[in-house]
Amino acid sequence: MPEYTLEKYVGTDCVGCGSCVAVCPYDAIAVKIQDDLVQPLLDRNRCSKCDLCVENCPVFRNKYLEPIRPDVSRIVGKPYRSFIGFANNNRIRANGSSGGVATALLKHLLDEEEIDYIITAHQHKLIAQPVILKESKDLFDVQGSIYFPSFITEASREILSNPGKCAVVGLPCQIDSLRRMEATRKRLREKVYVHLGLFCSHINEYWYLRYLSSYYKGLGCNPLAVSSRHGSWPGSINLETSCGSITIPHPKVWGNIPLLHLSSPFGCLFCDNHMNTNSDIALGTLRVLIPRVTNKKDIGKSVVTAYTKHGLTIIEDAKRKGEVSLKEISAKALIGTQIASITAKYLGVPMRRKIIRHRHMMETISGFPINYVLISLLPMINSYLGRRSELRRMLYKYRLLERLLNLYQTKMQRLLLKATSKVMRISTTALHEL
Ligand SMILES: Cc1cc2nc3c(=O)[nH]c(=O)nc-3n(C[C@H](O)[C@H](O)[C@H](O)COP(=O)(O)OP(=O)(O)OC[C@H]3O[C@@H](n4cnc5c(N)ncnc54)[C@H](O)[C@@H]3O)c2cc1C
Ligand code: SF4
Ligand code: SF4
Ligand code: SF4
Repeated sequence: MPEYTLEKYVGTDCVGCGSCVAVCPYDAIAVKIQDDLVQPLLDRNRCSKCDLCVENCPVFRNKYLEPIRPDVSRIVGKPYRSFIGFANNNRIRANGSSGGVATALLKHLLDEEEIDYIITAHQHKLIAQPVILKESKDLFDVQGSIYFPSFITEASREILSNPGKCAVVGLPCQIDSLRRMEATRKRLREKVYVHLGLFCSHINEYWYLRYLSSYYKGLGCNPLAVSSRHGSWPGSINLETSCGSITIPHPKVWGNIPLLHLSSPFGCLFCDNHMNTNSDIALGTLRVLIPRVTNKKDIGKSVVTAYTKHGLTIIEDAKRKGEVSLKEISAKALIGTQIASITAKYLGVPMRRKIIRHRHMMETISGFPINYVLISLLPMINSYLGRRSELRRMLYKYRLLERLLNLYQTKMQRLLLKATSKVMRISTTALHEL
């Protein structure tokens, strides 16, 4: 059987960004969920094997093309100026996944007629979808964070056919792909007014919803619909199952299995762009408790970073018009808010890239301290879980992995703490050198 590069080198490692669908000149790709995994499906009668899809696929690029060890300045980017803040509209703030700043900025751009529409994501039953919004009143319904594939870049096909300019909201892999497309398509470049990025540690495969359903509702209960994470910081997700619905608080959604990246698409394990460094404005959640700025427990705050001058102008404009309240923070404080994710990528990505490229694991790991070897074993568990549905069924039934991880939690936390302080030092030095 002839080999198709995207299927061979990406396949079930897909993160569902949607870029391959957008760039394929022959409409030969659909990204679908099969066996609870997101993956690209090629129509072999249409595919010309031009490999444009592969060139723009973030998973392929991260696995095989990017340097093995990403510079810390690539993970953090070159922040122009950074802030902590929230939407002044209390309804938007309380309904957001952090401080509602993303929605407040988008509303501001629509109200000021700087843009004509927005491309963002909306969770529909189990599967998230890109949506085009033209009125600011509709923004409220799509607030929150969707922790599953969102296919946003697929919608870039609509940009050329829709009149006017737009804002695109996306994860780092999606904004990176869009920027690559814009580099060779002037009209597309002219029509995207602003790239609003979200920070991203990773997303989860759909099988994780099956895990949550069986964990909370019992074996045999199937997930039917899920909401984004939003509302009353840190918020929760609503999961509807065949055995009834359940509200799962944010910290419980991110238990040990996702925290160790075991439920993420395999492709996320090679991604080094946590901060969305190619966006104009990137947004995250303020999780670190800085007493001066987090004085209310149940109201969220967003971390806001301008990566371009254009992004900064938009932020300052929205502040002047009273849409958002912002307090400037240093680059060091910015890194501090994301230090666990930065550390995980800084330490984990090079090892995984090395393993996948050289394939001879024993050769590759020699010379690395034992902790690093352990870090590199986790992706193997992820990979097996992704490929073997019978293993996932055992995970739902016996919860052995969860129990084992709970046993080692304190040890892992201590290890992580040690590693984060080292990466904090490296990151701040790198930023000073930029
Ligand atoms: C998968 C994922 C991982 C994240 N990881 C981190 C992290 O590690 N650290 C951190 O600080 N912050 C992270 N964030 C960002 C954080 O959760 C908030 O999205 C961000 O702070 C903006 O909050 P807000 O209240 O300002 O936005 P809101 O007012 O809630 O608006 C959010 C906007 O983003 C859109 N959106 C939500 N999910 C997606 C998606 N998957 N794809 C495209 N558009 C989407 C919504 O449609 C909405 O327009 C992550 C977000 C996601 C989706
Ligand atoms: S190889 Fe070319 S034609 Fe085939 S799916 Fe990829 S982009 Fe489309
Ligand atoms: S990661 Fe993105 S570009 Fe790559 S196969 Fe999946 S949807 Fe397509
Ligand atoms: S970790 Fe990277 S590849 Fe995975 S969803 Fe986030 S930005 Fe995309």
